[in-house]
Amino acid sequence: MTAGGETGAGPRRYDGRVASPGFAAGPLFRIERSSAPTRQAATLAPEAERARLEAALEQARADLALLVAETSGEASGILAFQLALAEDDTLTDPALSATSTGQSAEAAWQAAVGVLIADYQSASDEYFRARAGDLRDLEGRVLDALAGGAAHIDLPDRAIVVAKDLAPSVFLGLDWSGRGIALEAGSPTSHVAMLARARNVPLLIGLGPVVAEAGEMALIDGASGALIIAPDDLTERRFRTRQAEAEAIRESTAALALKPAITADGERVEVHLNIADPTELESLDPATCDGIGLVRTELLFHGRKGLPGENEQAAVYARILRWAKGRPVTIRTLDAGGDKPIPGLTIDDELNPFLGLRGIRLMLARPDVFRAQLRALLRAAPEGDLKIMIPMVGVPEEMVRVRTMIAEVRAALSSTGTPHGTAAIGMMVEVPAAALTLDQFDTDFVSIGSNDLVQYTLAASRDADLGAALSDAANPAVLHLIETVVRTGRERGIPVSLCGDAAGDALVLPKLLATGLRTISVAAPRVAEAKRVIAAYRTAANAKPRSGLAQRLGRVLGLSDGRRG
Ligand code: PEP
Ligand code: MG
Repeated sequence: MTAGGETGAGPRRYDGRVASPGFAAGPLFRIERSSAPTRQAATLAPEAERARLEAALEQARADLALLVAETSGEASGILAFQLALAEDDTLTDPALSATSTGQSAEAAWQAAVGVLIADYQSASDEYFRARAGDLRDLEGRVLDALAGGAAHIDLPDRAIVVAKDLAPSVFLGLDWSGRGIALEAGSPTSHVAMLARARNVPLLIGLGPVVAEAGEMALIDGASGALIIAPDDLTERRFRTRQAEAEAIRESTAALALKPAITADGERVEVHLNIADPTELESLDPATCDGIGLVRTELLFHGRKGLPGENEQAAVYARILRWAKGRPVTIRTLDAGGDKPIPGLTIDDELNPFLGLRGIRLMLARPDVFRAQLRALLRAAPEGDLKIMIPMVGVPEEMVRVRTMIAEVRAALSSTGTPHGTAAIGMMVEVPAAALTLDQFDTDFVSIGSNDLVQYTLAASRDADLGAALSDAANPAVLHLIETVVRTGRERGIPVSLCGDAAGDALVLPKLLATGLRTISVAAPRVAEAKRVIAAYRTAANAKPRSGLAQRLGRVLGLSDGRRG
């Protein structure tokens, strides 16, 4: 097999990165959007070019509005963001004006979008850079409309789609069952990557130019990150074996998801779910979890024009509570800022957004937005067992102010006879100061946000690639803080859980259990694996003593087996 880039028949291998794991095999199919050369010089009078562009923009808006109405959750948010861009005069006005200078509608549109794309691409924030993909998607949609409409894509069965990058709206318009995606460019934080992960579609990125003919046999190895074209018999046989093994592991672990999590020495561990998009719940069985440990409400506020109203929020929260069928549901109030900017709400160009006005700090500075969310939460509360969780709490004063506001909101609801319920009020521990002084906080429960706790403890940005050692939840300083929180919770009778990604990491979870933690919350695809790790876990007191050699080896390798002492 040759390394990537060679033309012609024969096996070829391209190595990239796994943005969504899984195996797929089938005929290669290339998607090239807007690859047709666009007209640069105007061939019509300026007014006619302007009218063409106006009509194409109108067409794009109408198509997007239809797609927004047909989708929900995250997908709908992405499309709504594009619709908001298409409706934004600051983007469309310069394009329409440029047609009066003798440019074609296509050239005028591409120039105007190009300026904005360059802006997004040069942003220091990875999140904004990834949004350039949404702009390119909109650019292509309008160009398609100018060319008389997008070509219909008919994917062959089990197709392996190869593309430079894939627009979210193209992804959302296709059926991916049994298929996979191999991108020459791409980003792990792009919307397409997020969507592919949520829908279990294997996706490779960063493969570089792929030289292949449509219909050639292609294999996506979502474990190693390789795309293999025209494999020989031996390579394909090995691939099929690996695929079958991965499937068998997935199936045997999946059965665990429905069982309660019990350690090897019989201790019950609660496993809750992290939810970012309420539509995720549609395909999930409540019996797989002990409750919902974290609903990130940011998505409700993302990619849309204006903030969601109180009624819209109340309906979403009520839906989640009904889904849980009486199990506890922890809904986190808006955690905007840091890596989660929301136009019109968070501060643009904040010098150090992770240390600035984010989470509860921003909500206390914007009581109008906070109050609407609290009202919506309390109105939904009668539908189940609601817990309200406050993000990014650093000092006790913040919880005092939150409780005062909640009391005011409740009084206002009562005074107007608006039906509502009650909820426990808890806080996240993501800031080391909160971990160290937890006994000072007025909180009904605690959930440790290890993602942020790691970055604030190790002074290592969570979205910078600073190496594994600086983003390790098993770092002794982080584990020490977690242990402190678990102990304080136990002493004060306050339930403690952990909802950061560390709980879904099979290597870190035993170390978390060793701190005494007995409640975790993980993303749905991690539930079965977490229960498997818990079933194999034994506390230090009950662990079989290791041989002297094993102990020495363990020390050399830095392994603790999750055992303390
Ligand atoms: C965390 O910080 O661990 C957490 C769960 O919050 P988020 O990842 O949404 O910041
Ligand atoms: Mg956090």
